Amino acid sequence: MIFNIQKCSIHDGDGLRTLVFFKGCPLRCPWCSNPESQSYGPEIIESPSKCIGCGLCRDRCPQRAIAGTGKIDRTKCPENCTVCTDICYAEAKRIAGKEYTIDELFDEIKKDFIFYEMKGGGVTFSGGEPLTHGKYLKEIAQKCKKNRINVVVESCGYSPFAEFEGALSYIDAMFMDIKIIDSALHKKITGAGNELILDNIKKISEFGIPITIRTPVIPGYTDSVENITGIAEFITTLPAVREYELLVYHNLGESKYASLGKKYELAGVEPPSDEQMRQLVKKANSILQPHGKQCFYMKDNNKEVITC
Ligand code: SF4
Ligand code: SF4
Repeated sequence: MIFNIQKCSIHDGDGLRTLVFFKGCPLRCPWCSNPESQSYGPEIIESPSKCIGCGLCRDRCPQRAIAGTGKIDRTKCPENCTVCTDICYAEAKRIAGKEYTIDELFDEIKKDFIFYEMKGGGVTFSGGEPLTHGKYLKEIAQKCKKNRINVVVESCGYSPFAEFEGALSYIDAMFMDIKIIDSALHKKITGAGNELILDNIKKISEFGIPITIRTPVIPGYTDSVENITGIAEFITTLPAVREYELLVYHNLGESKYASLGKKYELAGVEPPSDEQMRQLVKKANSILQPHGKQCFYMKDNNKEVITC
């Protein structure tokens, strides 16, 4: 199940890329900017600003789950029957999550083949967590490679190794998150410890796939010097990792939580300052650079690479 296909991305691998977002993730990071990616099933997204007030959804809802305001009472809508999303002409209610066969997804990816050839790009599988869809990932990655399309995977790393091992031969590079180095804290914040993640990163590194490690810098959650230096120390043990990227927190996904009937836990949290980001990069580089590795972050909407 895929919840988005985004064209012409320049930040998630080399060249111009098509981003394919798998639906479903085993972690529950409270800062997630794609909350519609977390559930493995389809979900209804409500955009009240698009509603033209026709009332059709309310009248046709078999569960009587839609009030006069047009808002869904999600306690009365456990199955997502999609009557309202099918009927809503204004797309004020729509479904996130669509099943694609391998051929259907490949047809979408190959539409941009000319851009991949011109700009040295390819496809990036993201999520959600693509490694938890291992068999499907292997098939689509294999088909892309057979057709000379570069394949990158973005991952939180939380999936049994045997689930995705078969896909590794068809992956050119990976971006993998380490959010919190202390496993107990990782479990408290994301819902799962990090042992499986660190073990998978080691195994993928030994397999020889180039990996960029990423940490989202979230004030009060991941932004301590101890956390960043602990992750940097782990990175020194990984032969296939050259780069460590710190991602500046943003709240662009906040409005999506309300659209899904969910609460955004980080309301009011401000992004880290430029000075704090520079200090963290400097600390990480004091550990990484002697090992020939580099930490950096992207400033001003990813226009400027900052390393120290
Ligand atoms: S069908 Fe769509 S436009 Fe009509 S009332 Fe429902 S949400 Fe609004
Ligand atoms: S998905 Fe079905 S049950 Fe849920 S609000 Fe829409 S029409 Fe009603």
